[in-house]
Amino acid sequence: MYRLIICEKPSVAQTVAYSLGANERVTDGKVSYYEGSGFLVANAVGHIVGIGMPEDYGWEKWELNTLPMMPEFRLFPLQGYAEPLRLLKKLLFRNDVSEIINACDAGREGEAIFRYIYDFLGCKKPVKRLWISSLTDESIRQGMNNLRDGAEMEHLFAAAFTRAKADWIHGMSLSRLYSIVNEESHKVGRVKTPVLNIIAERDNAIAAFVSKPFFKVLLPNGAECETVCDTREQAETLAAKCSGKTVKVTSAETKQKKEERPLLHSLTSLQQEANEVYGMTAAATLKAAQSLYEQKLITYPRTDSNFLTDDMKPLVGSIVKCLSGYDVQRVQKLEAQGLNMDGRVFNNSKVSDHHALIPTNIIGRLGQTELTEAEKNVAKLVIERFLGVLDKPYIYDETKYVFDADGVIFRLTVKTPVQPGWRAYRKEPQKIQAISFNEGDSFPAGEVIIKEGETTPPKHFTESSLLAVMENIDRLIEDKELKTYVKERGLGTPATRAAIIEELISAGYIVRSKKMLLATDYGRAFAASLPENVKSAELTAHWEQMLSDIEHGKAQPDDLLSEIGNTVSEIVQAERQRTSRTPVTRKVVVGTCPRCGRKVCKNSKGFACEAGKEQCGFFIFGQDKRIGRSYTASEIRELLSVGKITLRNCTSSRGKKYSAAFVLEDTGQYVNLRFVEFVNDRKRRTAG
Ligand SMILES: [Zn+2]
Repeated sequence: MYRLIICEKPSVAQTVAYSLGANERVTDGKVSYYEGSGFLVANAVGHIVGIGMPEDYGWEKWELNTLPMMPEFRLFPLQGYAEPLRLLKKLLFRNDVSEIINACDAGREGEAIFRYIYDFLGCKKPVKRLWISSLTDESIRQGMNNLRDGAEMEHLFAAAFTRAKADWIHGMSLSRLYSIVNEESHKVGRVKTPVLNIIAERDNAIAAFVSKPFFKVLLPNGAECETVCDTREQAETLAAKCSGKTVKVTSAETKQKKEERPLLHSLTSLQQEANEVYGMTAAATLKAAQSLYEQKLITYPRTDSNFLTDDMKPLVGSIVKCLSGYDVQRVQKLEAQGLNMDGRVFNNSKVSDHHALIPTNIIGRLGQTELTEAEKNVAKLVIERFLGVLDKPYIYDETKYVFDADGVIFRLTVKTPVQPGWRAYRKEPQKIQAISFNEGDSFPAGEVIIKEGETTPPKHFTESSLLAVMENIDRLIEDKELKTYVKERGLGTPATRAAIIEELISAGYIVRSKKMLLATDYGRAFAASLPENVKSAELTAHWEQMLSDIEHGKAQPDDLLSEIGNTVSEIVQAERQRTSRTPVTRKVVVGTCPRCGRKVCKNSKGFACEAGKEQCGFFIFGQDKRIGRSYTASEIRELLSVGKITLRNCTSSRGKKYSAAFVLEDTGQYVNLRFVEFVNDRKRRTAG
């Protein structure tokens, strides 16, 4: 009898097969699987079965009265994957296959990929789950010796399935709703739209910001005057008061301070650092990390934990040894001082599914592997963070001085490193100031400096700062006093955040500009047009929490689905009752309709009155054979405003270039451009 192992994709199936001795590759039609040592190893290709589209449930037409759409969900094969699905069906139902092992990625999505296939094909054979955090031979073999029971994954699958249904009900219904009412294709999503709103509001705040000048008075040693002035005159008065005077050191307090090592990387923190250091997008970082994982060099990337479990202590030692080839001096130093394996590294209670992202114990092969630039960058960040957390903390003396120059108070803080620790390997070492005073000392004030500055607006989002907010929306609250990190309230999951940003870009709502993410006019207008319960980050974070509760068996899927269904119903009702609206559209308006006075807009075929065919019917076909090209929007704009236009860069059917004047002609039925006369460009130019 055989055990059938199903992996998420072909490359992983090969890795798993070889590490278990299933070395024979069997070709079946256009696909293949592996066989040997009592195993059959086959694969999906990511999702190959899904929950369908509205059309699959009979909602072909986009109509308000079909909204919200809340179907009895069923599973449908995805187009283009007939072959892998056929092979899996054949293998699942082979008489000599006694047990199925789900070896898809150990997370919510991997669980769904497997279960959709298994349920769609109607298989009933017993299931075991391979749950591993790295793809090294050692980890796969260990995982195979500790297979989990398939039933243990019910809650995880329930969360995955509920997330898919919730996003479908919300996204499909509201995308149709706002596409219908705006007469323009719009994309709305449970996570996507609140994220768009966060970006749009920040951009609006920046646009509305009025900066104010301020003036600082400084001593030559950098000490800043307590009083910040609003005008230069005030600053000059202050400076005159202490220039040339004797400065007394009224206080010099030194405290030893400690700056702890940064935590190991989760996916989100890795994406943030890669964005800050290399300008990489979240999507590019995830892709590189996934590839490094599949090359067995790092552990499973889609993790939200920054910690390891206690049982990994011996492994950590062996990984450090493997890194000798990466930086031998640093490894020797770490080993000599002893690895710092405290609670900042190991915390069982903070690891649920997967531990933090770290190198594997075959990271030593790094130098022998051909990696892309992005993969090299990501590998470096993972390794550096790993070595850093095992180092000593950075310790420094911080001295706070208070100076008195004839009644004007100045303050200065000086840091002196005591133990460089993990910071020794950072590129930006601390500035060291050679300043040392005792209380009671005095010195001449010298030339007092006035420094002009201005208040700065909040910053536009980068992928890094946006990821921080998506991880915890409380970071939106600027006022530190109000910040309460009782519970992290996030938007989306680490695995989905990169895709959300990309979707907003492809829908035209936001753009990348250098490292910044900016809302477009279109995106800002759309966000502004939406009611609060479509774009509320709090509401989405609340649903995210419910999904997490479902995953841990603390909430029922139906509770969430009916809550989302009710919210969507309310939104649809409110939109149907709304009497006035300015449609949010990307349509290019080229002028006023001579027939009815409404707007004429460019569409894919030409230029049409927005009143539509039935009511008005004014339409200029965009293509014109006589001129060998289409009319441009600016040409039609001129035509509609003055009734006449000279078209240049025309090509006759015989290939001759010419320019000619045309006038607008409306027969009541058809609208045409009527030829008037040729225009001689050269003559025009000399005459002009
Ligand atoms: Zn019209």
